[in-house]
Amino acid sequence: MRLDVIGSGSEGNAYVLHNEREALLLEAGMPFKKTLKVLGGNVGKVVGCLVTHEHGDHAGHINEVLSYTIPVYASEGTIEGARKYIKTDFQPKALQGSDGDFARLLIGNFTVIPFATKHDSAQPVGFYIWHEETGGVLFATDTFYLPYTFAGLNNILIECNYDEGILQDNVERGEVLPALRERVRRSHLSYTTCLDALKANDLRGVNNIVLIHISATNGDPLGFREGIRAATGKRVHVAKENLSIHFNKTPF
Ligand SMILES: [Zn+2]
Ligand SMILES: [Zn+2]
Repeated sequence: MRLDVIGSGSEGNAYVLHNEREALLLEAGMPFKKTLKVLGGNVGKVVGCLVTHEHGDHAGHINEVLSYTIPVYASEGTIEGARKYIKTDFQPKALQGSDGDFARLLIGNFTVIPFATKHDSAQPVGFYIWHEETGGVLFATDTFYLPYTFAGLNNILIECNYDEGILQDNVERGEVLPALRERVRRSHLSYTTCLDALKANDLRGVNNIVLIHISATNGDPLGFREGIRAATGKRVHVAKENLSIHFNKTPF
């Protein structure tokens, strides 16, 4: 299995998890033609698309995905919030089961377990994904805190949005307004909170940690990568357009 990054950050998010036979899309925040290119035009192998929340950088291109009749999965709140983007008769599917709770899904050969995250949107979620080739994958973005730990992790995509010190300097220099600082703190994962969340988990089986949604103004991609690598001893990547890596249960 490979992970391809189409885009990561406030300009637009989209990731592809795929092998020769099947593909799972994460987020719909980038023009779909870029995803098509990564798929080599093979839309037929796409089993679904998971969307974490309705903000434009995650759901702004949801209509293009739906227009290919790709099943899109999101929470009821996200689907409501993304209404303005949806022009197709083919509608997204709600993550909630008949009891209103998030249900475990089988999408192709991917088992997907949604969990609630903490962000300034209607009903944001993250996903724990399991596939025979990837093992356990954590996908957590746009959350100021990660209130869970996960068993059997092999690969991780986690937000590492800002550094508290850089954010504070930007406020003092007048480049970030104090109100925006408060919004960032209540909606995105800081470097320190990201590291704490990683350390709370058993990382022994983890092959890759991919840092996603790094802020262009309040982040430090290379510093974050070095810091997380030193603290975890793991292979750490910074997500950016065109990053393409092996994403397997085994280290190769
Ligand atoms: Zn975002
Ligand atoms: Zn957001």
